[in-house]
Amino acid sequence: MNIDSIVAAIREVVPAEQTLSLHEPEFAGNEKKYLEQCIDTTFVSSVGEFVDRMERDLAAYLGVRRAVVVVNGTAALHISLLLAGVERDDEVIIPTLTFIATANAVAYCGAIPHFADSEDATLGLDPHKLDAHLAEVAEVRENGVVNKLTGRRIAAVMPMHTFGHPVDLDAIAAVCARWNLPLVEDAAESLGSSYRGVKCGNFGVVAGLSFNGNKIVTTGGGGAVVTNDDAVGELAKHITTTARIKDATRPWAFIHDRVGFNYRMPNLNAALGCAQLEQLPRFLEAKRVLAEAYAEAFEGVEGVTFVREPKHATSNYWLNAIRLDDAALRDEVLARTNALGIGTRPAWTLMHDLPMYRSAPRMDLSASERIAATLINIPSSAFLGASLLQKR
Ligand SMILES: *Cc1c(COP(=O)(O)O)cnc(C)c1O
Repeated sequence: MNIDSIVAAIREVVPAEQTLSLHEPEFAGNEKKYLEQCIDTTFVSSVGEFVDRMERDLAAYLGVRRAVVVVNGTAALHISLLLAGVERDDEVIIPTLTFIATANAVAYCGAIPHFADSEDATLGLDPHKLDAHLAEVAEVRENGVVNKLTGRRIAAVMPMHTFGHPVDLDAIAAVCARWNLPLVEDAAESLGSSYRGVKCGNFGVVAGLSFNGNKIVTTGGGGAVVTNDDAVGELAKHITTTARIKDATRPWAFIHDRVGFNYRMPNLNAALGCAQLEQLPRFLEAKRVLAEAYAEAFEGVEGVTFVREPKHATSNYWLNAIRLDDAALRDEVLARTNALGIGTRPAWTLMHDLPMYRSAPRMDLSASERIAATLINIPSSAFLGASLLQKR
């Protein structure tokens, strides 16, 4: 493999002189108009029409019964796990190949991440390895599924759709069903992706999304808890808004009926989000065109594979990625491309290699280690695909 041929393939797709970041947001719609409405009406904070509208628009787009918008994706995952029944000293099965938020959300519940391996086809949780691992370490006791090695309850399974590519949801859901384990989707990266025609976010008891600045749709900072269970949706709204209820005997006063969270998304952020959601179909089209162009450009490059969407899935291609046959060349490719102003990045440091999660329970994680050693993310902003579309 030749590093020049990687640079050439990227240059074939994206403009030459520009410095390119990995992912840039784009505000070409009603963003300013909606933000001005917030300021003109003084509804910038925790009350306002855009919060309700964003929740309605998002639920309608995903085809879920309820969406509750919150301050960020990490908070969305924290609430999702609580709603799935995760308690202190439980274990939650998550991939080691993920962004830190997945593991931290588990820790915020007082629970312990139990690291699982990924598969090459999806870059996400490997259902067959999960199945084999549970058969080896888990047993059903009175209080649920217990890890025989630690004595702790395994309370949930939370796969993550890496870079927007859906995991093998049917196979993972089947394993969860067999063990009666709740499935929670970390759908932070996969807004607009679907599996067998159904949008990510519909497959677990509850799912968490992110609208951080680098995601396909941004609210500045933000996230959402989505669910098809009305009671779960109601509770999501309640506990993310300080668990506030009207006092029955004093209608002018409020009480709080449990320790809730102040996780509500401000109206300003929701205004940005409403304008961004309007443009999501355009972003998705542009990203697909960009991914197709990369796939073509890398076809002839020896020793490099462009990561395509898995079978039976439509990816939002949030972040494009290539895999190198030779892991020894990864850092040199990263150095060369970044020196040329092409924003590239390695995969995350695996969760089980981080100091606070080093002693957490795990299965064999060799596939994740191989993926992390050979993967490089390449520039993925929607505007890059849009300019390719224009040239056609
Ligand atoms: C972005 C992201 C989150 C949430 O991140 P926030 O910055 O808190 O919105 C969670 N999980 C994954 C995998 C992510 O990529």
